[in-house]
Amino acid sequence: MIFKMALCGKPKAGGLLEARFLSTMRIGMGQHSRPGGKRQTRKERPVQEAEIMKVLEETGALLTGHFELRSGLHSDRYFQCAYLLRYPRVAERLCRSLGETIRADLGGSVDADAVISPALGGILVGHEIARALDLPSVFVEKAEGRLEMRRFEIARGQRFLVAEDVVTRGGRVQETIDIVRAHGGRVIGVAVLVDRSAGQAGFGVPMWSLLRMAPVTWQPQECPLCRQGVKAVHPGSK
Ligand SMILES: [Zn+2]
Repeated sequence: MIFKMALCGKPKAGGLLEARFLSTMRIGMGQHSRPGGKRQTRKERPVQEAEIMKVLEETGALLTGHFELRSGLHSDRYFQCAYLLRYPRVAERLCRSLGETIRADLGGSVDADAVISPALGGILVGHEIARALDLPSVFVEKAEGRLEMRRFEIARGQRFLVAEDVVTRGGRVQETIDIVRAHGGRVIGVAVLVDRSAGQAGFGVPMWSLLRMAPVTWQPQECPLCRQGVKAVHPGSK
């Protein structure tokens, strides 16, 4: 929390912090060729799990405390992906790594017409993955409590990669898949930054995630933090 406040306190803090992540994550390693040097295949190395955890904590995206989740369960951890995605170059690097994993898994090319995401949380991730795969990025959005395709067209037979920031139970991803299919489109897979379903979310299509986290949650009456008298807070959007 202290760290988060420090981060927001000065306009330049974010920039300094970002520079530190960038060096930690060696962003752009694969993009430079040595002038006049031998032709090299300098492939950017995939982001390692320990690095991702470090970035999550340093950006304030992984909060530690006592939280009452939307499900009513209590937890000592909360993941706020927007805190991570506020650093565009960090978002770009993580999504590029995920995009490259997907491309490698699919034999070197991704046969999709576009990336599609549920607004709001999925848009930035979808956009960065689309950049990595050189695809258009579109989104579905909430209207009267449900996701809908409002701004873009889905032609029959078009192929989509669904992208989301965090999957817990996977409701929004499933809604997005249903929308694509209802328009006659096809879903080739699902890409998420963080899979918090402990491997339980399954959509019947390939799924890729950068990080899997099994959240520790308790029923309020069994919560050890409640027993210690610590007050639970509601994280997330205000
Ligand atoms: Zn509690």
